[in-house]
Amino acid sequence: MNSRRDFLQKLGVSALALRLAAFSGRAYGKDRDDTAFDGPVLRVAIMGLGSYGTRVAEAMQACTKAKLVGVISGTPSKIKNWQSKYGIPEKNCYNYENFDEIKSNPDIDAVYVITPNGLHHDEVIRVAKAGKHVICEKPMALNAKEGHEMIDACEKANVKLLVGYRMHFEPKTLEVIRLRKAGDFGKILFFQGLCGFTIGDPNQWRLNKQLAGGGSLMDIGIYAINGSRYMTGEDPVWVTAQETKTDPVKFKEGVDETIQFQFGFPSGATASCLSTYTMNDLDRFFLDGEKGFAEMQPSTGYGPIMGRTSFGELTQPVTVHQTVQMDEMSDIIFKGKQPVVPIDGYEALKDLKLIDAIYLAAKTGEKVEVKL
Ligand code: NAD
Repeated sequence: MNSRRDFLQKLGVSALALRLAAFSGRAYGKDRDDTAFDGPVLRVAIMGLGSYGTRVAEAMQACTKAKLVGVISGTPSKIKNWQSKYGIPEKNCYNYENFDEIKSNPDIDAVYVITPNGLHHDEVIRVAKAGKHVICEKPMALNAKEGHEMIDACEKANVKLLVGYRMHFEPKTLEVIRLRKAGDFGKILFFQGLCGFTIGDPNQWRLNKQLAGGGSLMDIGIYAINGSRYMTGEDPVWVTAQETKTDPVKFKEGVDETIQFQFGFPSGATASCLSTYTMNDLDRFFLDGEKGFAEMQPSTGYGPIMGRTSFGELTQPVTVHQTVQMDEMSDIIFKGKQPVVPIDGYEALKDLKLIDAIYLAAKTGEKVEVKL
């Protein structure tokens, strides 16, 4: 995704720097334990060898508790490249027709689904039926109904369902959450989330309603939806939303270009957010309480995340998000570790309910009550 890469490069991070950091692990964080890990290693097959799948694979090279061991792809040449680059054996390579056979492969613990949003539902359910743990990219599905079905399928198959909420492991984000929980900001009054980039190629799946499920909200606005919950520590009870479109040819019916939405929380706090595919450099969170504030910009890009509170700069270490995420997911799956902010199917379902409500509110102009 050139546009996404451009977006990230505008944030000051070159792809090369990210790669070097992933390979060396040097940006993993000061607290990284470099001693050999002798616990169980999560053996992962990646489904969808696109731009984000590639980023995850590169970051996983610095993991100590997770390892890339397999691939699922419809493109044989990509499989060959990945095999030679990551040492993946032939027996761990699948395509979209035969990947149910992964059921009888004892060398794969989990499948990480990194395909277009509209495919997640069916693919996650197939992986669950094959008896493997599932990691799914955001948005977990196109709507809450699909989300429920995926959770049910994973529970029935007795496999874990985790979602790639990489910010839930990001040190500066976790520090703001810690300060908020400790009461340093006082009663929380307001959250603002601005998320956007200018999208390029009009023919990409992100602008195809069937594959994307919508537009900017599904792709980038979800960071403000999820962020409004982990920053305030509350789940919304009402939603209002307004959609604006400057290019109805590029952004067809059902594909939102720009949506602004507001949440109301049980405490009386509110959130005001903007999601767009036509403005660059929008990656900002602001949290305001009676006794202090936190602001982060960039707030959800690949990093480095930067920010400050009313008490000073946020100085927590820079990490490669996907490296930390995969090691943490290993502990969650094998050791039952509880992350500070959940990353399971129920967490993702809350975001999907809010997405449903935002689209409904934008369409009707009504305030929509939600119960997460
Ligand atoms: P991409 O287009 O770069 O890659 C998608 C991959 O899916 C490609 O390899 C493509 O060949 C494959 N694919 C399989 N079936 C397909 C079909 N029917 N149509 C089109 N492609 C098909 O997209 P991406 O940026 O890697 O995004 C994939 C998923 O990852 C999305 O759900 C996206 O929201 C998510 N994502 C998450 C983050 C994050 O930071 N957590 C970042 C980027 C993308």
